[in-house]
Amino acid sequence: MYRRLSTMTDVVDIKAGLRNVLERIAIVSNNRTIQKNVQLVAVSKTKPVEAILEAYEEGQRHFGENYVQELQDKANDPVILEKCKDIKWHFIGHLQSNKVNKVVKLPNIHMVETIDSQKLAENVNSSWEKYRLNDSGKLKVLIQVNTSGEENKSGVNPKEVSQLYDYMNQKCTALETVGLMTIGEYGYDYSKGPNPDFVSLLECAKSVKGNESLELSFGMSDDFEKAIEIGSTIVRVGSSIFGYRTKK
Ligand SMILES: *Cc1c(COP(=O)(O)O)cnc(C)c1O
Repeated sequence: MYRRLSTMTDVVDIKAGLRNVLERIAIVSNNRTIQKNVQLVAVSKTKPVEAILEAYEEGQRHFGENYVQELQDKANDPVILEKCKDIKWHFIGHLQSNKVNKVVKLPNIHMVETIDSQKLAENVNSSWEKYRLNDSGKLKVLIQVNTSGEENKSGVNPKEVSQLYDYMNQKCTALETVGLMTIGEYGYDYSKGPNPDFVSLLECAKSVKGNESLELSFGMSDDFEKAIEIGSTIVRVGSSIFGYRTKK
């Protein structure tokens, strides 16, 4: 089914896009030796609620957003609340301390993928403990790693991952620290070999105690197949499902 999306002039078949991405995920997952399921997070940032409904109707449950205000609007949207009772939101943007309570209070928040400091971990932990723990159980979180070392990217230094992971497991008892996430450099040229950001994240995972069951979130529209081949368990895919975004 085709549907014209609010301000966009092009027409995107979201259901077909989603099916295509899921098919490609299934093929690479079957061909790899690692026996782990791959979770698709459909990144719906800048896209309207109708786009989310389309994907939800097609069976998609995990959605990612990276602006707090936008996620707040969508998660509290009456139509989403009514029709998408089983939706699972992933927060994938930079989280400032003053916005922590907003994210913690969101209906159907499932995972915060971007814990990038001990201080943020402590803030999210105490907020979750205060507002949600009793009703919702622990909040799943990932540690975001700055694998490319770019100054404009958030994330902890790869060398600090293991220490922060241990700290969070011991001290942040309202959280379930389930793994690691990286964004990495955009536009990597794969003719040069495996993506060094992905390789770095895998190295970080090895440095963590009890690393067999870690979730590893890396891979986006342009490279999710490459990511899955080498061990990604969560891929965050936006434009391949919802169409191109106009820049903010
Ligand atoms: C936008 C975004 C994505 C998805 O990017 P696409 O290239 O559209 O698939 C994934 N992860 C993060 C953190 C993002 O901000």
